[in-house]
Amino acid sequence: MRVSTALIWFRRDLRLHDNPALSHAAATHDSIIPVYIHTLAEEAPWAPGAASRWWLHHSLAALAESLRQHGSRLVIRHQGNSLDELRALCRETGATAVYWNRLYEPAGIARDKTIKTALREDGVQVESFNAALLFEPWSILKDNGEPFQVFTRFWQACIRSISPPPPLPIPADCKAPSLWPESLPLEALKLLPRIPWDQGMATAWRPGEEAALNRLAQFCSTILEGYHQTRDYPGVDGVSRLSPHLHFGEISPRQIWVAVGNHLQDDPLQQKAAETYLRELGWREFAHYVLYHWPHTTDRPLQERFNGYPWRQDYGELLRAWQQGRTGIPLVDAGMRELWQTGWMHNRVRMVVASFLTKNYRIPWQEGARWFWDTLVDADLANNTLGWQWTAGCGADAAPYFRIFNPVRQGEKFDPEGAYIRRWLPELAGLSHQWLHQPWAMPSAERSALAYPPPLVNLETSRTEALQGYERIRNR
Ligand SMILES: Cc1cc2nc3c(=O)[nH]c(=O)nc-3n(C[C@H](O)[C@H](O)[C@H](O)COP(=O)(O)OP(=O)(O)OC[C@H]3O[C@@H](n4cnc5c(N)ncnc54)[C@H](O)[C@@H]3O)c2cc1C
Repeated sequence: MRVSTALIWFRRDLRLHDNPALSHAAATHDSIIPVYIHTLAEEAPWAPGAASRWWLHHSLAALAESLRQHGSRLVIRHQGNSLDELRALCRETGATAVYWNRLYEPAGIARDKTIKTALREDGVQVESFNAALLFEPWSILKDNGEPFQVFTRFWQACIRSISPPPPLPIPADCKAPSLWPESLPLEALKLLPRIPWDQGMATAWRPGEEAALNRLAQFCSTILEGYHQTRDYPGVDGVSRLSPHLHFGEISPRQIWVAVGNHLQDDPLQQKAAETYLRELGWREFAHYVLYHWPHTTDRPLQERFNGYPWRQDYGELLRAWQQGRTGIPLVDAGMRELWQTGWMHNRVRMVVASFLTKNYRIPWQEGARWFWDTLVDADLANNTLGWQWTAGCGADAAPYFRIFNPVRQGEKFDPEGAYIRRWLPELAGLSHQWLHQPWAMPSAERSALAYPPPLVNLETSRTEALQGYERIRNR
């Protein structure tokens, strides 16, 4: 009897639980070959940055180990483009089907479409599945058939629509083939940095599906009940830190939806916490939705009048100060140093540093988005684009243009004890509360003893200049 073999093409769904492509293959074929094809060029101009490549290495190692524990393997390929590799693998293994879970970025959509058509023309059965989102972007539309641009309306429509299907278990049998095709060792992908700057990330994170599930369980049993109160305070462990796990598909939003939904009990506080958290997952859905419907927003503002915004010219030095966490504004510098050392930054601080870059420094948001892209372990084209456009005021349902975060007030409000600033800026750790958020206001004798730079721009005048800039484009 002829054995039917399927390839599972892993991309950003690096898990065995709730993996619809894998479950479908296991249910319909005699043998399954899990494959990862490394083709960064196909993701250009948004190939993963340095921090993401670090994560990817460890996530692939974890996936390969999980597959091994289930009697299977991960076949790694690198040489050609994805289509050539898939064709070669079909020839080598006799596979008659290729399955994958969908991506929603413009380059991924275009590439997958071409590959689907070509493989089908070869006579290969191809099917793709939704593993990354609660709601497919094309399934939520206004009554007139157009996409939503306002988050609240979008999320109401999502909640009203059919609830997402329950997560799938790991298939009972991963159906290893009798003969394996050749695989490269993971090291051949050269994802890890040559100069070892990754110590901070290695201390802060454990990539992989098992770590993601452990973090979800820990979050639900300890932090979730107070999430609606703690989520804005960067100095406390008050958020889930699931973003890189979600980006690499080590955990699915459906798994999180169910785990968090179990806390939607009669207790109004638990309910508030769970709803607040699910709403944040809603922002993730919205980000992917906006990118799907307006793919140009990775580079250009959704609100076109912002094309004419008078950005600062010749901003190299200011940009480097921001990147290196030496702007002289404590909350901003603390955030940028947390990012550099751990590959992650708290959401409240992301908004503050992004507002500071685009408004006080008047540096185009695309510069900030690019830096985040290279340094975040959770760098995600949809979430990053939305976050930057939201803060700059030029995106879908963005912050109003006149909202300019004051980093001193933000620090006093959301880091009231100064725990966050003291942790990331040890040179300010000894300052009293009075000066911690604005050391430039200290008496000059004490200030000159500080190994910390004065601000490069004045917060008040730069705010006024930003508002004048917005006045110029306001009525376009
Ligand atoms: C300028 C800027 C850039 C950003 N870039 C990214 C990025 O590249 N990748 C990324 O995952 N998030 C990005 N965010 C959104 C947000 O800051 C992170 O998702 C969040 O800080 C991750 O931490 P967490 O998992 O503990 O979040 P939690 O508060 O625990 O939230 C749970 C999950 O909800 C999603 N989520 C939460 N807030 C947002 C949001 N505002 N937009 C979209 N999804 C959200 C994330 O998937 C997150 O893991 C950005 C925000 C800003 C302001």
